[in-house]
This record gives sequence, C-alpha cells and structure tokens, in this order.
Amino acid sequence: MKQYAFDLHLHSCLSPCGGEDNTPANLAGMCALAGLEVVALTDHNTCGNCAPFCRAAERCGLLALPGMELTTVEEAHVVCLFPGLAEADAFSALVREKLPPLKNNPAVFGPQIYMDEEDRVLGEEDAFLAGASSVGIYDAAALAASFGGVAYPAHIDRPSFSLLANLGLWDPAMGFSVAEISKNCPPDLFDRPDLRGVPHFDGSDAHYLDQIRDAHQYMVLPERTPQAALAWLRSGAPASDGIS
Ligand SMILES: [Zn+2]
Ligand SMILES: [Zn+2]
Repeated sequence: MKQYAFDLHLHSCLSPCGGEDNTPANLAGMCALAGLEVVALTDHNTCGNCAPFCRAAERCGLLALPGMELTTVEEAHVVCLFPGLAEADAFSALVREKLPPLKNNPAVFGPQIYMDEEDRVLGEEDAFLAGASSVGIYDAAALAASFGGVAYPAHIDRPSFSLLANLGLWDPAMGFSVAEISKNCPPDLFDRPDLRGVPHFDGSDAHYLDQIRDAHQYMVLPERTPQAALAWLRSGAPASDGIS
C-alpha cells in the first residue's frame, strides 16, 4: 500500500465561476507543483473538460479522475467521480437532460469555455450550467454508482449549496460513504450526533489557480488507478498502517 496526496474538487474555465486561467493544462501543471498525485476535475453539472484535463494531468504524472460537481434539486452540491471518460460523459449527458432549459449569461455568471489539452479554446457552452438539476440528493449516490462512480456531498460545512445548510442533517439513507469539508470547517463539526463517525476530507474547490492547496492529505491505495481510488472512497476513506 502507498499513500497519495489528493484533491478531488477542482474547477476549470468551463465552470461559469471558474477563472479563465483555470485551463486544463494550467490546472494539471499547478496540481503537480502543489505535490498532488491524485486529482479530479469537477465542474458544475458537466464533465465537458474532463478529457483534456485527464490527458494534461497524465502528462504531468498525475492520476486524474473525471468528475462533476452536481447541483441537486435541493441546491446541494455533490461531487461525483467516475472510473473513466466514457462513464463520465454518459453521466454528463444524463445530467444535461435534467438541467433547467436556461441559457448562460456570460456577462453575469462568466463564460463557460471548452478547451483541449493544449489549452486551445474549442468553444463556449451556452447552457446555464450553474443551475440546479432535477436529481434529488437521495438519488445522487445510486445514480453515480449506476455509472460505476462514487458521489459524496461537497463542502458540507458551508452556509450555502451544502447538504447541512439545505437539508439540515446527515441522513445515512442518502447513501454517502464519505463527506467533503472546506478548509474552513470548524474542528468540532463532527461532534454533532448525526456526523459522528462520518469519514471526511477536504477539497480545495479551486476556482482560481492560487486556490489549489499544497499536498496535505493522503489516500492509501494498493495501486494508483481510478478503480482503487473509487474503492477507497466507497469503503469510507480508510487510513491504513503499513503504508510506504
Ligand atoms: Zn460547491
Ligand atoms: Zn466546487
């Protein structure tokens, strides 16, 4: 077993609120400089820049998982990660059908830019990606699992767009094996009765390159593959003795 520094919550310029410098190649390069080894791209309600990001990350020696930050119908953010691009693209197409039929207003929300792994602009997404999908939070974990993926609630300590803010409590019936917190999470949050024993880690949720955090947390895997990383998440992000 080995431990790998990870950050599974990153946004590219395809997120309307993502900085235009957050190109796939820039992101990958900054992740490598930060000492990360396993990373994931999680734009809002789309996996559209995952292919170039994964290719750019591979070039930097990183394991990259394709992912998405799904907005549920309750307006809670849920990180969804997949074993490969085919699964991610299929999930992304399904979520697209569950988004409101609205157009993005780039002047208000920011542009949503598709790029290739050389950071060439391929086009702009005109659908409104920042809205809430019609996927319910009780269905998110099972839906991601049906595409071979894992889903868990994002930044649960935040006062908006989070499971705790919008639903009030952690219900095991939602089916999440882990929780993500923000870097500002109060240290006593997990003393709450509903959160006691819930495994958790943080995600940088970087919308700008300078928000990518240096390596500080690790997953313990038998091999550095998407399947092993997803299995680690499914099994509650266990720490392990005997790591090398
Ligand atoms: Zn979020
Ligand atoms: Zn996010």
